[in-house]
Amino acid sequence: MSERRIALVTGANKGIGYEIAAGLGALGWRVGVGARDEQRRAAAVAKLRADGVDAFDVPLDVTDDASVTAAARLLAEAGGLDVLVNNAGVTGGMPQQPGDVDVATVRTAVEVNVIGVVRVTEAMLPLLRRSAAPRIVNMSSGVGSLTRQSASAGEHQTGPLSVAYAPSKSMLNAVTIQYARALGDTNILINAACPGFTATDLNAFRGVRTPQQGAAIAIRLATLPDDGPTGGFFEDAGVVPW
Ligand code: NAP
Repeated sequence: MSERRIALVTGANKGIGYEIAAGLGALGWRVGVGARDEQRRAAAVAKLRADGVDAFDVPLDVTDDASVTAAARLLAEAGGLDVLVNNAGVTGGMPQQPGDVDVATVRTAVEVNVIGVVRVTEAMLPLLRRSAAPRIVNMSSGVGSLTRQSASAGEHQTGPLSVAYAPSKSMLNAVTIQYARALGDTNILINAACPGFTATDLNAFRGVRTPQQGAAIAIRLATLPDDGPTGGFFEDAGVVPW
């Protein structure tokens, strides 16, 4: 294992993922830019490197077994892995409200936002187990909070009606809890993050937070001290109810 911390950020070519990579890079970490499109990935790596970040290419499509296996091999050769940020995500497409949704939309959201995270996490766990201070951050969303989605949330009810994106993030939260239980007797801390409503491609830049602001909670969870929390769901303001 290398002495410098090494992180992999999935979906790091733009938006919140790019800013997570920039933030971890600013701490002096080596950062693998996980992205599926070669040109977009190369452009992000070049921009990060121009800003002084020790960024490197990690070709990665989270929906593709061979791609994820190759990424794990690449990281092993690069010196290992200390932090995995499962940031890549999609809405799955529109419309997606009950009564007006194509099941393919649901499938796409789950394929990337849930199964993609499980696939990448399983592939990277052997590397993370060798790290002195391994961390996993799953980029969830406040709309994945069943508490905030339910009618009883009243004025705190959040997000548009959705049977694809929001439930996929609820399942990601459930998956995070399962990994936290399984890894409870290890030094791996795993948490879910909510970046807040952030202006990116995902919402046609309607978000009210900057990508840097959206990245902050993931950076905080990626850099937790050894006695930090695990199996939690956090936003900048603190704990998000499941
Ligand atoms: P974004 O700008 O659309 O970025 C999404 C990233 O995921 C892109 O880099 C995209 O790559 C990548 N991606 C999608 N499918 C992939 C796949 N199969 N394999 C690898 N990478 C893939 O959106 P964002 O807002 O930064 O979203 C980042 C995360 O934050 C997502 O998980 C999202 O659900 C979550 N989030 C966002 C908000 C918000 O308000 N923006 C709120 C809550 C949670 P391409 O360029 O190749 O498409």
